[in-house]
Amino acid sequence: MSSTPVRPDPSIEPPAFADLGLRPELLAALSALGYEEPTPIQREAIPPLLVGRDLLGQAATGTGKTAAFALPLLQRMPEERPDGEPVALVLVPTRELAVQVSEAFHRYGKDLGARVLPIYGGQPIGRQLRALDSGVDVVVATPGRALDHIARGTLRLGSLTAVVLDEADEMLDMGFAEDIEAILEHAPQQRQTVLFSATMPARIDGMARAHLTDPVRILIAREQPVAGEAPRVRQSAYLVTRAHKPAALGRVLDVESPTAAIVFCRSREEVDRLTETMNGRGYRAEALHGGMSQEQRDRVMSRLRAGTADLLVATDVAARGLDVEQLSHVVNYDVPSAPESYVHRIGRVGRAGREGVAITLAEPREHRMLKTIERVTGQRITIDKIPTVADLRTRRLELTQAALRESLLEDDLEPFRVIVESLSDEFDLMEVALAAVKLAHEATLPGSDEAEEEIPQVAVRPPRPIRPEYDGRGDRRGGRPRAGGVTQVFIGLGRRAGVRPQDLVGAITGETRVSGRDIGSIEIADRFSLVEVPLAVADEVIAGLRGSTIKGRKATVRLDRDNRR
Ligand code: AMP
Repeated sequence: MSSTPVRPDPSIEPPAFADLGLRPELLAALSALGYEEPTPIQREAIPPLLVGRDLLGQAATGTGKTAAFALPLLQRMPEERPDGEPVALVLVPTRELAVQVSEAFHRYGKDLGARVLPIYGGQPIGRQLRALDSGVDVVVATPGRALDHIARGTLRLGSLTAVVLDEADEMLDMGFAEDIEAILEHAPQQRQTVLFSATMPARIDGMARAHLTDPVRILIAREQPVAGEAPRVRQSAYLVTRAHKPAALGRVLDVESPTAAIVFCRSREEVDRLTETMNGRGYRAEALHGGMSQEQRDRVMSRLRAGTADLLVATDVAARGLDVEQLSHVVNYDVPSAPESYVHRIGRVGRAGREGVAITLAEPREHRMLKTIERVTGQRITIDKIPTVADLRTRRLELTQAALRESLLEDDLEPFRVIVESLSDEFDLMEVALAAVKLAHEATLPGSDEAEEEIPQVAVRPPRPIRPEYDGRGDRRGGRPRAGGVTQVFIGLGRRAGVRPQDLVGAITGETRVSGRDIGSIEIADRFSLVEVPLAVADEVIAGLRGSTIKGRKATVRLDRDNRR
């Protein structure tokens, strides 16, 4: 196997956050969060946004797009905001994203005193009314609920200086096109408008033409191959929810048993947290990040080289230019923010014809970014199932067997003969062997697998169905059933609980990787609802809905009786 590893050129230092023109309060917040350098989209988007340009950006989740628009918006917030009306409005497709984006604004804008409010369907409107009344600077909303508030006169857009349409393609898929148009009509003409979308279909282009003025265009998921050839290593990915990531990493590494591995994280904070978790799991893990002195870093590297550490948990910045012979595995704890970064990272293994393995843990929403990386590198990333507890047990037994075989072939076992002989008076030889194997197994692999819990498998999102009849509006009110491969999910809440189609669509798209356009007809009866979804994702939809609330209530969720397989 030949390979031309691509290595970062340490002489070309990418710009730091400080070079982008951000104010000290924001720089301090980023540093406290452990962000070491801007992602490509942040590098490209922040400077034009800071000078007030409109922007059309193609970027998927995982690229750092939220900070790319949030930081400039926060910086441009007028100092004086006497009337308490919002100066920025961010429209997002789901309530989960509304919460996530407003948390991001809050984290970055704390020192600037930014007041941020998420508003979305499913949350009691009273709380939102009180918050709006007491004054907010940034509103992050789903279109339906934003429009409700505008109609009530509780959300006034007269002071807006900026509007962001985030994940615009998803919003259109969910049938929010008209709502968005109506909202934009209420916003001042003189404003900055930013549109982010993972895909750029004609409808998004049309929307951009209608609402953006001379926008800067940024295409982050470049389709051209990255410079150089990606190294030929075994590349696989695991889809896992954020909550199960540390356990999934442990499980995958236990099964892979790397000689030495480097685990890449996005921030210093995560590096520290994960190092601790992995040490708790019995690995000899060392942290490496930009907050450490050169001396500390050298110490870590020599421990890795000497084999007294087997896991390096690092940020990109700290690991730049690093070359470790022993590395067998590179792990992306998160999907890298750009294909280039993926190639650089995996270039750490598989050098000079050695075998290498690259593993990526991706959250369901980041699946699209994996596809982009595959296209750009021209190499396949296999999506594997997270090993089960049974897989782990089997693997551990294999390791014990291999260790025993080696001992049988190589060790001097004579000194132990006396024990076996004396025990064989009392026990069968097989039983003696079994007891010895048990002790060896437990001694070499501490961490009992009794305590291991199953990690839920998340299915791969099915390819987007082609629906020529689709006009981008029908789904929310109930699209038509699609031919073959669909089923109905029963949800034990209906009209009496105030459930509307958009609540169900919001809950499903927020809790799973199913997109609005995959959802078929929605039927809302007095006491229950039925939602049509593709068979392939029914289990995921059921699990997602069971784990969440609809209109603040837990509901019975199951496959509809008439549709059981
Ligand atoms: P997004 O693509 O906006 O959903 O961001 C993906 C994740 O990356 C979020 O968890 C952010 O907190 C994180 N993130 C964004 N920018 C950076 C950065 N420059 N360095 C480290 N982490 C980042």
